[in-house]
Amino acid sequence: MELVSRFTMIDLIGILCIIACVLFILALKGLSSASTAKTGNLFGMIGMAIAISVPVTRSSDICWLPIMLIGCGGLIGYYVAMKIKMMDLPQLVAAFHSLVGLAAVFIAVSAYLAPHLHRIHMTSTFIPLSNAIELAIGAAIGAITFTGSIVAFGKLQGFIKRPLIFKFQHKLNLLIGFGLLISILCFVTNQTPIFLAMIIFGALLLGYLLVMPIGGADMPVIVSMLNSYSGWTAAGIGFTLSNNVLIIVGALVGASGAILSSIMCRGMNRSLFNVIVGGVGNSQDQAPASNSVSGGNVKVCSPEDAAFIIKNAGSVIFVPGYGMAVAQAQHAIKELSEILKKDEILIRYAIHPVAGRMPGHMNVLLAEANIPYDDVLEIDEINHEFPGTDVVIVIGANDITNPAAKNDPTSPIYGMPVLDVEKAKTVLFVKRSLAAGYAGIDNPLFYQDNTMMILGDAKKVCEEILIAIKS
Ligand code: NDP
Repeated sequence: MELVSRFTMIDLIGILCIIACVLFILALKGLSSASTAKTGNLFGMIGMAIAISVPVTRSSDICWLPIMLIGCGGLIGYYVAMKIKMMDLPQLVAAFHSLVGLAAVFIAVSAYLAPHLHRIHMTSTFIPLSNAIELAIGAAIGAITFTGSIVAFGKLQGFIKRPLIFKFQHKLNLLIGFGLLISILCFVTNQTPIFLAMIIFGALLLGYLLVMPIGGADMPVIVSMLNSYSGWTAAGIGFTLSNNVLIIVGALVGASGAILSSIMCRGMNRSLFNVIVGGVGNSQDQAPASNSVSGGNVKVCSPEDAAFIIKNAGSVIFVPGYGMAVAQAQHAIKELSEILKKDEILIRYAIHPVAGRMPGHMNVLLAEANIPYDDVLEIDEINHEFPGTDVVIVIGANDITNPAAKNDPTSPIYGMPVLDVEKAKTVLFVKRSLAAGYAGIDNPLFYQDNTMMILGDAKKVCEEILIAIKS
């Protein structure tokens, strides 16, 4: 009877694990499109709830310590998620990635010090070869993810302002990477603590050095790469803890992060290899980013002037950027576009893959304002439309329109595809000043003949344009 109930319990746990994994796959599928993202998130949450409850219910005695820890973690997560502003999400994601890395390092150390607690059966005084390899690789990827994510957090939060670039940087990274491989080999063969310490410290240093040189427009690629690293780290922890769900979920996150990085690299005209060895588009020859603003004639116009120009247009394209997120101007833009549509003006939105501060940032904000998905077009779909467009309204965007990416090989954003807004008849730039964007470089479009600047907070300006059009 006991045997039957034990088999039933094992079967049930297996079935729950499979259900959780299927839900995670459905979550990824759902998240691939804005219209299905909410359902995707729901699948992910249910899958996670099942995945967390399985280990807790696995043993016959209820284990209160993990339940309490999960409860505390859940409460902290809830508090942070409720408090966080939409604009600070990328930093939060980077900070969470660092915790995954740290957890992997702790688990590797604990598995080394107390293998029996992780159901690792020692052969004489040695950890079996396969476990030693998992442990060493898990510790290395975890430590790289930890420091890399902390540096990414510092950069996104604005604590670290300039990329660290020095001579022989890539060679140093390769040397440390090589040293790391040797330490892993030595640890696997003789399992002394000194080699585990060397793996961890070498990987911590490598994580720092890989992300420090990343500058300006290349941060999105590195954030998605760190996302992938954190997935592989979780898979590594899964091997050490013999947890199949963690292995599958880690592999899903790792693979999807790697695919996203590859897509972003293609979109940004960067090489994936350069991302992995650090430095992305940067080289010692490139000019460092500066906040200087070059001279030239700037035409400034009022919201009322802008309203007049917009009302007489036949087609308008909105180009949202980070400033729209800061100002939370999406609802005012939606209201404005509804009024213009009533006047039979063709309205579209152009989305750049790295607009804002996280992949999909603009899509999320526009969806929140109920802007129809059909009006929202990606860079490849809209770029050829600019020459035939009467008015482009750039709302708090800067780097994603900067033509230096096309024609200045010394620019840190050179090679990144940008929205060809300058080809429209009139370009209205809504931002507070002539200051540079994230990449820290001047935008020559501000001084172009067909450009007019409307200086002010994006939400306030859009509301004033709306009032002027209504009246
Ligand atoms: P930018 O950072 O280039 O420009 C944003 C502009 O918004 C600034 O120049 C600022 O000018 C303006 N702004 C800020 N606040 C307001 C406000 N309240 N009202 C109006 N304007 C405002 O943003 P983009 O979206 O053009 O480009 C994104 C950049 O961020 C790229 O360089 C990208 O690589 C990088 N990045 C993207 C990530 C992603 O995953 N999407 C992640 C990390 C970095 P002013 O101060 O004059 O108002």
